[in-house]
Amino acid sequence: MTAVAGAGSRAAPRGDPFVPRPFVVRRHRQDTRDTWTLVLEPADGATMPFAAGQFTMMQAFGAGEAPISISGDPARPEVLEHTIRNVGAVTRALVHAGPGTELGIRGPFGTGWEVSSGRGGDVVFVAGGIGLAPLRPAILEVCADRASYGRVLLLYGARTPEDILFGDDLRRWAADHAVDVQVTVDNGQHAWQGRVGLVTQLVDRGGFDAVNTLALVCGPEVMMRYAAMALRARGVAPARLRLSMERNMKCGVGLCGHCQLREYFLCVDGPVLTYDVLEPLMSRAEL
Ligand SMILES: Cc1cc2nc3c(=O)[nH]c(=O)nc-3n(C[C@H](O)[C@H](O)[C@H](O)COP(=O)(O)OP(=O)(O)OC[C@H]3O[C@@H](n4cnc5c(N)ncnc54)[C@H](O)[C@@H]3O)c2cc1C
Repeated sequence: MTAVAGAGSRAAPRGDPFVPRPFVVRRHRQDTRDTWTLVLEPADGATMPFAAGQFTMMQAFGAGEAPISISGDPARPEVLEHTIRNVGAVTRALVHAGPGTELGIRGPFGTGWEVSSGRGGDVVFVAGGIGLAPLRPAILEVCADRASYGRVLLLYGARTPEDILFGDDLRRWAADHAVDVQVTVDNGQHAWQGRVGLVTQLVDRGGFDAVNTLALVCGPEVMMRYAAMALRARGVAPARLRLSMERNMKCGVGLCGHCQLREYFLCVDGPVLTYDVLEPLMSRAEL
């Protein structure tokens, strides 16, 4: 099997990976009309170290379990942050879990972004919608070690200005950490002074040394496909281009096969994979 991104930097669950650990919601913040961030602490006091890009299986008792990426700071494993969009039964129960609610967490699972492999060069983050949440830990990692990187760009596309996530972070990353934050929206009302258009158009504008760039992409699959093509056209090497893939996931440990993509189980071989692995899979329909 081809080497996958993140294989070297992943953290593993403590104990039995099928047994959820109790976590208590400490803070509950509404980010946009359909998205909330939960800050959780372990009820058993044991931290959950994780690598940027990994996910957990979050369980709302009585409603079910869903894979959700960790959106918090890898340097602060004492708290676990998740940013969740309310799309169905499980995510509805999770976003309505207020402070004091106990949730079950399994993980962390999957591969990480391995952003530190980009030290010495430029880093381009390309995010679409809630795809900014899985990238946030990697951006925080770069900001904490900013001098080790060249130019850092965050290209972010949201549906409307009201759907823009982490506004305070975006301002802080730009002001305090010299991150070139470029935001575009699909639909901007008259009050919106920023860009309107696809996030892939921001890739074409450049501002990075493609040959020496690590590019990390997360968003809806169609957006990732076109962003990857644009990054390739600019000269980013397929092995330096990483995407986080979403598929139906149940077990988290590569046993049940729900997330199989040809020979890969995305819960263990992914969700972060390099484009040299993904390109032949993404260009085939129905995989
Ligand atoms: C590795 C991984 C990481 C993820 N990280 C996050 C995260 O950080 N935050 C987050 O909010 N979600 C994330 N997801 C997606 C999340 O797991 C699903 O939205 C969730 O499982 C839906 O469960 P549900 O029971 O609420 O909705 P369901 O009843 O399963 O679905 C309700 C409706 O929403 C649609 N739907 C399901 N999933 C999605 C989706 N991803 N996007 C759009 N529509 C969808 C379904 O087709 C259906 O029409 C991640 C998924 C994976 C595989």
